[in-house]
Amino acid sequence: MKKIGKYSFGIGDRFVHQGNAQLRALVKAQVSGIEVTPVWNKSNREHMYVHSNPADTRVEADQAVKALGYKGDYCVDADHINLSNVAGFVDSSDFFTIDVASKIGIPATPDEIAAFVASCKRYTGQLNIPNIAHPFLVDEALLKTVADKFLTAITEAGKIYRFIAENKGSDDFVTEISMDEVESPQSPVELFFILKMIANEKIPAQTIAPKFTGRFNKGVDYVGDVTKFAQEFEEDILVIDFAVKEFNLMDNLKLSVHSGSDKFSIYPEIQRIITKYDKGIHVKTAGTTWLEEVIGLAVSDGEALKAAKSIYTQALARQEELCAPYADVIDIKGDQLPSAVEVAGWSSEKFANTLRHIPGHPDYNPNLRQLIHVGYKIAAEMGTYYTDLLKANNNVIGQCVEENLYDRHLKRLFQL
Ligand SMILES: [Zn+2]
Repeated sequence: MKKIGKYSFGIGDRFVHQGNAQLRALVKAQVSGIEVTPVWNKSNREHMYVHSNPADTRVEADQAVKALGYKGDYCVDADHINLSNVAGFVDSSDFFTIDVASKIGIPATPDEIAAFVASCKRYTGQLNIPNIAHPFLVDEALLKTVADKFLTAITEAGKIYRFIAENKGSDDFVTEISMDEVESPQSPVELFFILKMIANEKIPAQTIAPKFTGRFNKGVDYVGDVTKFAQEFEEDILVIDFAVKEFNLMDNLKLSVHSGSDKFSIYPEIQRIITKYDKGIHVKTAGTTWLEEVIGLAVSDGEALKAAKSIYTQALARQEELCAPYADVIDIKGDQLPSAVEVAGWSSEKFANTLRHIPGHPDYNPNLRQLIHVGYKIAAEMGTYYTDLLKANNNVIGQCVEENLYDRHLKRLFQL
């Protein structure tokens, strides 16, 4: 079985032009002394909007690895797949993010629930997890509630896992279970019993992505109580550590943070806690690279700046349509979006500074940033006009992508 390294970083690339630049950032981290496995992730939804195929991401990853003479391990992640769309990813991916969020809350049969509750009998009463100060009170009612919420979802995950293994003809891939795209966070005690379900289904999960407390809006910083996040994150780590031994799960099982990109204020807490317990982490980003493409176009000035402005102006006019699929993960204050007329007068520098994520920069506007984040469909519609501009301004854009991933993300996350 393919086993993922201790630290890994998910790099999304919507238009598959930035593989080299992304890999350069991870190589820089390696030079600074930390091995971080690059994972190129792309969801079915992104492929549909951009009219790309899972195989394109594989080609991009392989090509970048070859171009840079990179010797480390790397993965191609079929991000947020389910039974209806996984088939197209089987050949080209070796990392599968099995998304079962849509099955949460669908009750299993009474027999299935009874069997699960029976399998957890020994954990009723006071459940003490090493290093967590307070015990969890577990009774049959709690087990039933957890089963009602999650059992159907994990049964489905088992089906998807087996579908992949059968169609691939081997188990030589990394399995992630994700349930982050839901409204309410899973508590650490729920996570413990979700892991029991995963063990019962014999899914060799190596990463798990729960929904954490707080808002993980696209492309902007964490919104919520960082202390509360840290407490929950620490308990999740300890729950996983205990569950791995207790349920005989994969010994490298680690948390996966679907960051929605740029959760800078929780990076130091993640770093502090994984260091404290010597644990691994997977952090997934997606749109941050696409935003750097638009920044790079703006920096390049001329026709490229015009295209960047046009992406914003069109996104502004089609705000409702573009935001609808992302309603739960964006928070745009409409009255703080600059008008098309205003943006038309902006310099290259002003546009880039407004979009670039430098917290505290006087020009930075998280509303405009979120709107452009969900506006990649506009660039996809521009077709070769857009991708030709990417090629023509490859050096500047590549520098933006590399600097963003290394300086703003990896350096913060791993304190390099
Ligand atoms: Zn996610």
